[in-house]
Amino acid sequence: MFQWPRKDTSETERPVFRAPDDLKGQVAVISGSTSGIGLALARAVASRGGDVVLNGLGDPSEIERTRAEMEASCGVRVRYHAANMLKGDEIADMVAYARHQLGRLDILVNNAGIQHVEAVEKFPTDKWEQIIAINLSSTFYATRAAIPIMKAQGRGRIVNIASAHGLVASPFKSAYVAAKHGVIGFTKTVALEVARDGITCNAICPGFVDTPLVQAQIADQARTRGISREKVITDVMLEAQPTKEFVTTDQLAGMFLYLVSDLGASANGASFSIDGGWTAQ
Ligand code: NAD
Repeated sequence: MFQWPRKDTSETERPVFRAPDDLKGQVAVISGSTSGIGLALARAVASRGGDVVLNGLGDPSEIERTRAEMEASCGVRVRYHAANMLKGDEIADMVAYARHQLGRLDILVNNAGIQHVEAVEKFPTDKWEQIIAINLSSTFYATRAAIPIMKAQGRGRIVNIASAHGLVASPFKSAYVAAKHGVIGFTKTVALEVARDGITCNAICPGFVDTPLVQAQIADQARTRGISREKVITDVMLEAQPTKEFVTTDQLAGMFLYLVSDLGASANGASFSIDGGWTAQ
């Protein structure tokens, strides 16, 4: 689990700034938090005292086990809302649920996402529609519902999990790249609209992070390109990532905790690359 590095301070010595790791009393809604990056960010919030609404697909008993374990180990309230990110009304209901169940909404993380890898001319049209809906439109529906609540509170933090593919392209990922570029444009627009309301809206753009989504991509890429899994990892995925290391969810949590803290108040409308140098090329 991500921990802020701490400087030893004597009783008389005050730290220069308080590490932004106290989220007591705050409420976060995180779409797609039954797995991968979303689950890691949910744990980052709960372990710092914040209440969380989990969301995402999966085996109900496994989700309930995760929810109950997080609640018990962190001593916070953790709820689950099953909104399907394909459905705008369910997404709006998830945001309203946070407010009704937990009393407020401080942090919205638009994280749910899917991928499909195929040449444009063969790209299944239903996959295109799903990727645009889950990876892009769900961000609009959740943000639309969250802003009035955040405005009424005078503070809010919206963090969109985009991707290095929000900044640059790769072949065979047309829908994903289009959706993630859209997320970055949407992030900038929202940031301008809410800049005077104590609300910030930013995007985090990870490179390759080893999560179930990436595991599925390894198999897809191996099939599409006709090469082994090992070759996909070294020659395709981490080929573009100069560090040759997967990004970790802890590294993403570090950026996320900064953005949702008071220290992050002037970061607005920005896209933060955490990609081992991929998009510097
Ligand atoms: P993941 O597959 O582990 O998690 C995706 C989450 O989205 C899951 O909780 C899943 O249940 C949920 N989800 C999918 N479809 C849904 C639907 N219709 N309704 C509700 N929830 C749904 O993937 P991840 O790697 O943790 O990805 C999370 C986000 O990070 C995605 O937006 C992805 O594009 C982005 N991202 C991932 C990487 C990476 O390398 N893993 C890199 C850059 C960006």
